[in-house]
Amino acid sequence: AKSAGRNRLSYFTQALQESAQHRLRLINDLRGALSEMQLELHFQPIISLADRRVVKAEALLRWRHPERGMIRPDEFIPLAEETGLIIEIGDWVFRESARWAQRWTQDAHRKLQISVNMSPLQFQSENLIIDDWLNHLRKLGVAESAISIEITEGLLLNAHPEVIDRLLGFRDAGIQVAIDDFGTGYSALSYLKRFDIDYLKIDQSFISNLETEPNDLALSEAIVIMAHKLGLEVIAEGVETEAQCRRLREIGCDYGQGYLFSRPLPPESFERLLRQG
Ligand code: C2E
Ligand code: CA
Ligand code: CA
Ligand code: CA
Repeated sequence: AKSAGRNRLSYFTQALQESAQHRLRLINDLRGALSEMQLELHFQPIISLADRRVVKAEALLRWRHPERGMIRPDEFIPLAEETGLIIEIGDWVFRESARWAQRWTQDAHRKLQISVNMSPLQFQSENLIIDDWLNHLRKLGVAESAISIEITEGLLLNAHPEVIDRLLGFRDAGIQVAIDDFGTGYSALSYLKRFDIDYLKIDQSFISNLETEPNDLALSEAIVIMAHKLGLEVIAEGVETEAQCRRLREIGCDYGQGYLFSRPLPPESFERLLRQG
């Protein structure tokens, strides 16, 4: 029994070492990913539930690793955050999103907003210069209203003055702000009063059981009612079925995003979808 225990122990030690090595290798590769142009943005349509038109798109980061293939952000964003690389990567995401926004909003009848995820660490970094981003938009001739940012509730909870200044900087410039994954954090609703937020994104975990869990439906409806009273609009994340879509319309939700409408698409495919109307 003793030696079995020891074997198990060494098995775990080995597994730990391997995962540590895997991490180190990934971090190392990530450093080169930007310069090697292995990062890409995919775009997932956000539709207006009233008429099913595409009105926004969320920019979602993808890493095309030369050996491992496509790596999902859940696997490398945490590493980018730990190493500080998220600042450089986030800067690239913003500029690249602006470039696509330029291409897709040239047609003046089309209103499209590209929504960019921001890590809390970007807000805390001295290297985030909002004016540089605004200049970038101006140079491209992209309206500020064509870009929005997604932040999580955690950022607003014990927000430092610098964080608040930055958030206000975006708002004052005309860049709209969405709260991502709404309802999963320590929703201290008081921040909704303090900051001028534009959108709440109801987390996927509420939407997936909309049909079977009366509480999830009740909470989603309450979120919509509250948001509308405060002058905010609501986006449902992770909409996968027609039944969920119908419920969301019934409770007055404004927008939907999810596999029912489309998966995140490479820019060329997203553009094709836009052209189809
Ligand atoms: P998120 O911001 O909550 O993004 C939504 C995630 O849900 C995306 O996963 C999307 O592909 C997925 N999704 C959309 N519709 C459905 C659906 O109907 N069903 C299911 N099961 N999933 C759906 P993805 O692309 O893997 O991104 C994961 C997370 O990585 C994002 O969660 C976000 O937190 C982070 N992320 C992605 N891109 C960036 C970025 O540029 N910067 C930062 N800081 N984080 C990013
Ligand atoms: Ca998001
Ligand atoms: Ca989300
Ligand atoms: Ca508002």
